Amino acid sequence: MSIRKKNKGQLIVLSGPSGVGKSTVIAELLGMRPNIYFSISYTTRLPRVGEANGVNYHFVCHDEFERMIEQDELLEYAQYVGNYYGTSMKMIEEKLDAGIDVLLDIEVQGAAKVRRRCAEAVLIFIIPPSIEELSRRLYNRNTESEEVILGRLKKAREEYQEIPNYDYLVINEKISVAAGEISAILTAEACRTRNRKHLVKI
Ligand code: 5GP
Repeated sequence: MSIRKKNKGQLIVLSGPSGVGKSTVIAELLGMRPNIYFSISYTTRLPRVGEANGVNYHFVCHDEFERMIEQDELLEYAQYVGNYYGTSMKMIEEKLDAGIDVLLDIEVQGAAKVRRRCAEAVLIFIIPPSIEELSRRLYNRNTESEEVILGRLKKAREEYQEIPNYDYLVINEKISVAAGEISAILTAEACRTRNRKHLVKI
């Protein structure tokens, strides 16, 4: 037996309806597992109060986003409630090649594209305890109009149809428990035989 070169990083896709608390769960997860790079997406939507360019998203105009699509710079992209959202290919490849896990917070169409392009990605879907609870969280967030909130709730119902295409389902009743479950999933994935081939010479 001999130790060989470090494996590539794990690509992790996390999807879930807007308002489920993904950002908070992700922040908790990143605190628990420092070897994860959180991919900052590009979007044409306007920043919400408290959001900063290059921190939450790279906020770009429509023309710039379409230029990125044409130049094939995106691993995946989708339109969601009237705006473009997409993942830059370059940064992700660099991190994965360096053995760093990469976490994408993306919606279901983008996740399906990642699945097609990268069969070994692990897909996790996160939901609130109920749709009523989701509605309460969206209204309490107080950042969007009623029309936008109703659009997001309708979207959530559609997104639930995609749950069978995901590898794991996490319910965010309590942030620390949800983050702990995702961390456990990542530990199990790291222990897969195919991800440990570099540790043994058979
Ligand atoms: P929000 O506007 O609430 O920040 O995000 C709306 C939705 O877009 C969320 O479901 C989020 O996961 C998704 N999203 C964020 N970045 C990306 C991305 O790069 N690609 C795709 N396909 N979806 C994204």
